[in-house]
Amino acid sequence: MNKCVFLSAIVFAAFLFVSCGEQKATTSLNAMDTFMTIQVYGKKPDIALEKTKKLIYQIERNISTTNEASDVYRLNHGEKISASGDTLTLTKYGLDFAKQTNGVFNPALYPVTSAWGFTTGAYKVPSENQIDELLPLTDYSKIQIDGTSINLEHGMALDFGAIGKGYTGDEAIKLLKANGIRSALLDLGGNIQALGKKTDGTEWNIGIKSPWTGKAAASIKIADKAVITSGGYERFFTADDGHNYIHIFDGKTGRPVDNGIAGVTIIAESGLYADALSTTMFVMGLKDAAAYWKEHSDFEMIIFTENQDLYYTEGLDGKLQLLTDFASVNVIR
Ligand code: AMP
Ligand code: MG
Repeated sequence: MNKCVFLSAIVFAAFLFVSCGEQKATTSLNAMDTFMTIQVYGKKPDIALEKTKKLIYQIERNISTTNEASDVYRLNHGEKISASGDTLTLTKYGLDFAKQTNGVFNPALYPVTSAWGFTTGAYKVPSENQIDELLPLTDYSKIQIDGTSINLEHGMALDFGAIGKGYTGDEAIKLLKANGIRSALLDLGGNIQALGKKTDGTEWNIGIKSPWTGKAAASIKIADKAVITSGGYERFFTADDGHNYIHIFDGKTGRPVDNGIAGVTIIAESGLYADALSTTMFVMGLKDAAAYWKEHSDFEMIIFTENQDLYYTEGLDGKLQLLTDFASVNVIR
């Protein structure tokens, strides 16, 4: 095809796209402890958006740790229940990911994160003794799944804070596709997931927040991908000793991670995978995260350190636009 015919074909396709009654619709909602916005393009976008909202609220009702009617709340309070598909999927995925990462990812840390007050906002530094007593309750190998029933030992508790939003993004995108939407951008509290490209055929330009200023420190163009960030700055408290304790935990010590990482952004096709990875790579720290990436070539990663160094994986070379100065810029190869 010569260049002119090719361009005409693109223009024609673009024209078709906007001329077949396709419209834009946007909505925002508060769910899962965060603010979400969703923009969709397609036929009957309002109907698709309403269904998506319902889906998000339904997943929240199943996996919330605070809603007394949720599967997770009831499991965490010793009830025997028949779990929903959402809860079962997340439990299985969380358990597999925990096994695969030797417990760096651990969906059973709730007893420990609660003791630090991260589940209620009543922050405190627990004693070493208290942490030692709680650690056995975070043994994910004791989670048992039998059909639709999930069995936890007394005192154990699940928490899908590290994967729930990524899972929700994937489910929302499946639903949007099934409703004829071909282009959408979901911002689930800073977790970005894109369906297709923009209606003009170009990729979405996604800003990556600076841990220091809150403004975009970099940007990246994507289509059909999730861009998911774990940041120590997203939730932390400053103790009387002046130390900042963040909401991302090292399950081996029962203490917040303190490894010089400020933020990790993962770019992958699946939101669930990207969300699990963002938390896991944060806990692993720079060296182990780089080694993990080398073993698994199915994602890209951006790491900001507390010293304002930037590290990014080779696949992002030429795709990542830097919007601020860094102490150093390094490519992980
Ligand atoms: P994210 O923002 O995706 O990194 O998720 C952080 C949330 O995951 C925390 O607020 C906790 O609820 C939970 N969490 C903290 N540490 C871990 C860990 N090592 N493995 C799994 N979940 C964790
Ligand atoms: Mg995560």
